Amino acid sequence: AEIALFAALRVPQAVAFYDAASDPHRPERLSLMGDLRDAIERNEVVLHYQPKMSLREQAIDGAEALIRWQHPKLGFVPPDAFITLAEETGNIHRVTRWVLATAISQLQRWSSQGLNWHVAVNLSARDLHDLELPRRVAHLLTLHKVKVEQLRLEITESAVIGEPVIAIQVLRELADLGLRIAIDDFGVGQSSLAYLRKLPVHELKIDKMFVQGLATHADDRMIVRSIVELAHRLGYGVTAEGVEDAAALAYLTKIGCDHAQGHFLAPALDTDSFENFAIGFEVG
Ligand code: C2E
Ligand code: CA
Ligand code: CA
Ligand code: CA
Repeated sequence: AEIALFAALRVPQAVAFYDAASDPHRPERLSLMGDLRDAIERNEVVLHYQPKMSLREQAIDGAEALIRWQHPKLGFVPPDAFITLAEETGNIHRVTRWVLATAISQLQRWSSQGLNWHVAVNLSARDLHDLELPRRVAHLLTLHKVKVEQLRLEITESAVIGEPVIAIQVLRELADLGLRIAIDDFGVGQSSLAYLRKLPVHELKIDKMFVQGLATHADDRMIVRSIVELAHRLGYGVTAEGVEDAAALAYLTKIGCDHAQGHFLAPALDTDSFENFAIGFEVG
């Protein structure tokens, strides 16, 4: 049974099936979570950095931090699989603390070399129920002497829907520290304009579902263009994720989208590869 579960974990669709059918007390689940806890200590978990291009400056000015687990037996476990498990088993706070500490100490190393990139970290819904989070983030920034503008946060709107009062309070405190907050996966799932008005957010990230179709679908061009306009009218910045071809990049530049991210530019890279890519980046 363990082997089957582990094989399933490599495939996102199978993971969704596994989650739906699973019982939280099954030993396989618990052992995987036990592994994750140890994995952090054994340095099996790393952050990779996906370059973000400023379309105005035509340069890489930051990255999204994406977690990777290199498991000794299972091989590469995709984040969607273990992040979901960590959320369900209450381990997500531990993961998020590690991600924040790692990203912030990386920012410190970069700024000591004169490299002023920003790093965006993903938060889970449960993180917004953690009233300690704003204080922890403030502490880490002070400890590593990192400017608040260099750390950014990405949340999905669904993160706020479960327990809106607490989530909005935590978000507000994070924003009051000076952190820039982006709504991830904008346009799919629970995105709702009613919530948007109540949230202290600064950026929309257009979901890759719309961006991947830019070259071939007129509908997607219309949707993306409207989101860029909406974002700018509300005073938000806007990033397009899932840029997979030159035509998408050209269209996003033409309509005034602020940032682009996607495999056409680069996938998530280890720190050395990210540095080489960002410093050597040239358009075309
Ligand atoms: P996300 O935040 O929407 O991240 C974007 C995902 O799209 C990443 O998958 C990225 O590798 C992938 N991607 C980037 N460019 C392209 C492209 O051009 N085409 C396609 N098809 N995909 C692209 P990844 O790294 O597998 O992460 C999946 C999800 O796991 C993330 O979705 C995020 O929700 C979650 N995640 C990743 N790292 C963390 C983390 O540190 N903390 C939390 N809470 N969640 C994380
Ligand atoms: Ca994200
Ligand atoms: Ca996204
Ligand atoms: Ca996502």
